Amino acid sequence: MTSSTRHRQMAFVIDLNKCIGCQGCTIACKRLWTTAPGLEAAYWMNVETVPGRGYPRDWAGRGGGFDKGRPKPGREPTPEEYGIPFEFDYSARLFSGKRDRGRPRAAADWAPNWEEDQGAGAYPNTYFFYLPRMCNHCDRPACAEACEAGAIRKRPEDGLVLLDPDRCDGSRACVAACPYAKTFFDAAKAKAHKCHGCFPRLEAGLAPACVAQCTGRAMHVGFLDDGAASVHKLVRQWGVALPLMDGFGTGPNVFYIPPFIGPAVEGPDGTAGAAARIPDNYLASLFGPDVRTALRVLRAERRKRGRGEPSELMDLLIGRDARALLGHLQPHPSR
Ligand code: SF4
Ligand code: SF4
Repeated sequence: MTSSTRHRQMAFVIDLNKCIGCQGCTIACKRLWTTAPGLEAAYWMNVETVPGRGYPRDWAGRGGGFDKGRPKPGREPTPEEYGIPFEFDYSARLFSGKRDRGRPRAAADWAPNWEEDQGAGAYPNTYFFYLPRMCNHCDRPACAEACEAGAIRKRPEDGLVLLDPDRCDGSRACVAACPYAKTFFDAAKAKAHKCHGCFPRLEAGLAPACVAQCTGRAMHVGFLDDGAASVHKLVRQWGVALPLMDGFGTGPNVFYIPPFIGPAVEGPDGTAGAAARIPDNYLASLFGPDVRTALRVLRAERRKRGRGEPSELMDLLIGRDARALLGHLQPHPSR
């Protein structure tokens, strides 16, 4: 890489109105990158129900990231917080006719998606939505700053944050430093690991597996400085795609379209009120105060479209042409 290399940033936009929680992205990623023994509980991509405690449990309260520009101490999640994998004896159950379903832990009380679809609120005004989470390929990656071995770097050509296992000394500093709990530790190899943005696919002109596999066509990918890319339009032009918990100070490059389609609050007599059931205050706790403006813009454009008027924003989000969500990338290798 020469000093004249143009610094670019690959970004992701996830439309929370279209995510159906199918976990297709989770499994596409898992099957490609974290199938080695010992990595059962590691999900570079996971989809959690919010409001909820998330994966790993209570990840948002562990510290990490920056406070007033200075690294903030963080804590590595425990194995129980990730969730001890359930052992399912497939061969006994499927091929030996045994009724035993495996050996669950005696007192299992947590696992990824333990509280799926629970959400919050009181009937009839309960609510939840799905939140896909992956490494944010941050502008200022706390994982990289914490790594004294210099094993993590942000590469200039696409802004991906990559971890070199050969340089990793197993200190786990990056695991404690990432405020999003998206750096993991492989105890069998004594090495850290993390999402690398599917760079081998990107270098072959293919979209990351999570994006290509997304059932809901909820994910967009592309360069933030590419005026033709939907990520540029949604983040820079329309300002309706926002980072998750930006207060950690790392500058995330995964952005979210907040949920603006959904039921209204219901009164005691069953009539719908004016307010959305998902409280704006809750969305502001995830996506910051700008979410109120974003919601206003999204709702206004939706009303326009409902009146039969043109709306570039709604067309972008509907994504009738799945290829348009992928920028310059292809979904699958050509046969
Ligand atoms: S989300 Fe965490 S692991 Fe990913 S770049 Fe940011 S600090 Fe590093
Ligand atoms: S594949 Fe798409 S729709 Fe399914 S859980 Fe992932 S982001 Fe949501």
